[in-house]
Amino acid sequence: MTLTSDINAQLGTPAIGLASVVIASGARTQLPSILERLPHSAHVAVLMDDRPYYTSQGKPFKSALIDAIATGRTIHTTVLTGNVHADEPTVATARAGCANADAVVTIGSGTLCDIGKVAAGEKPHIVVQTAASVNGFADDQSVLLVKGVKRTAASTWPHTLLIDEDVLAGAPQILNRSGLGDMISMFTAPADWYLSSFFAMDRGFSADAATMTRRYGDSLLRIAGGVGQSVPADLATLAKFVTLSGLSMGAAGQTSPSSGMEHTVSHMLDMAHGAQNRPNAHHGEQVGVATVLVSLLWRRTLRRIASNSLPPLTLPSPDEAQRAVYTAFSWMDQAGEVAGECWSDYAKKLQHLDHINAAYRLQRALENWGDHAATLNSLLEQPERIVGALRESGSPLRFSELSHPATAQTVTWALANCHLMRNRFTIADLAFLTGTWTAEDVADVLEEAAQVGAGA
Ligand SMILES: [Zn+2]
Repeated sequence: MTLTSDINAQLGTPAIGLASVVIASGARTQLPSILERLPHSAHVAVLMDDRPYYTSQGKPFKSALIDAIATGRTIHTTVLTGNVHADEPTVATARAGCANADAVVTIGSGTLCDIGKVAAGEKPHIVVQTAASVNGFADDQSVLLVKGVKRTAASTWPHTLLIDEDVLAGAPQILNRSGLGDMISMFTAPADWYLSSFFAMDRGFSADAATMTRRYGDSLLRIAGGVGQSVPADLATLAKFVTLSGLSMGAAGQTSPSSGMEHTVSHMLDMAHGAQNRPNAHHGEQVGVATVLVSLLWRRTLRRIASNSLPPLTLPSPDEAQRAVYTAFSWMDQAGEVAGECWSDYAKKLQHLDHINAAYRLQRALENWGDHAATLNSLLEQPERIVGALRESGSPLRFSELSHPATAQTVTWALANCHLMRNRFTIADLAFLTGTWTAEDVADVLEEAAQVGAGA
């Protein structure tokens, strides 16, 4: 099956609310005719940021695109300025800008699209993607900043994604490299999701959703160099992967197929930098580096299991857990809202794990480990190969090399505490609950990462 037919097959699934995806050179020029075909488009809200965007020929295209849809219509433009975050005030501004429109057009990439998906509500929402920077376009979920904590919230499907190869090739290379980094999470996230199914977390594991993008893993590694150099054909392939990944999350009704511990580490870095008033690096840059570390943790844990040296799983008491969460997060704001938000999610996870007798569940899974090991090994990838792809694409290999670097101290904090942030089960939870995610273990993983050329 080709990538394109895979995407079309997914669009045919009744659960998918996306009407169409156009990936082509010049795709943006289809915007007027798409609006024309909507039942109502007299009032169109346009949502964008204040960055200039150029095609691969160096032509600015934002104002030309707006001019092309302005004839006979009222355009309500909302420009979100500066470094845009999907926090409550920004979402409220966007929502107000879309209130009186028949349809919404978002021109931008990840965060803009996440905001647009919330602000558009049930109105037809057309996204003109300015980069293949993240995998969160083609789904009905948005990552928002709620009380300072990154949370995945239900939003709405875009009506159409317009992915113009000329625009992708004109995007800053760092954005497309970020898309590659975000996609690299396919080498750890599905394994985390599979692991979480031992403990009846989330809405359950689906092999179809988990492998929808993972089966293109070798192709992703192959295009890494081309993506780094903005080779249009490789960017178009990346855009298809990014779309398919979004569809897999939409079809699964959860972000788990593409979001595991590597994403939690990235969210932790964003939160820490927010609290320190420091700018964030691009999401995918962080995710790419974090994936190397998570794959190393996976390898260590699988080796422990294979040698029968993984200690039994023990749950902390609620008091102990609450102390750990508050110790990890209470420095972030005076009111303690971040710690409170994280504890409310972690408490639910702990209660659930207690309720289902997590220690027994793990023991049972270990008794049939042969089958599980085979599945996990098919989902995971060698950290060295991941490092190789990041290196070929010119992406950062260390958090200190990000566009906005993270300090070694922040990286250690993010790794050591990421399991305390949300109600998801990843390899960090398994390691923590089996006593194999101590400060020393975190330092060991960072040391191993340094040996493969990656890490803090
Ligand atoms: Zn992501």
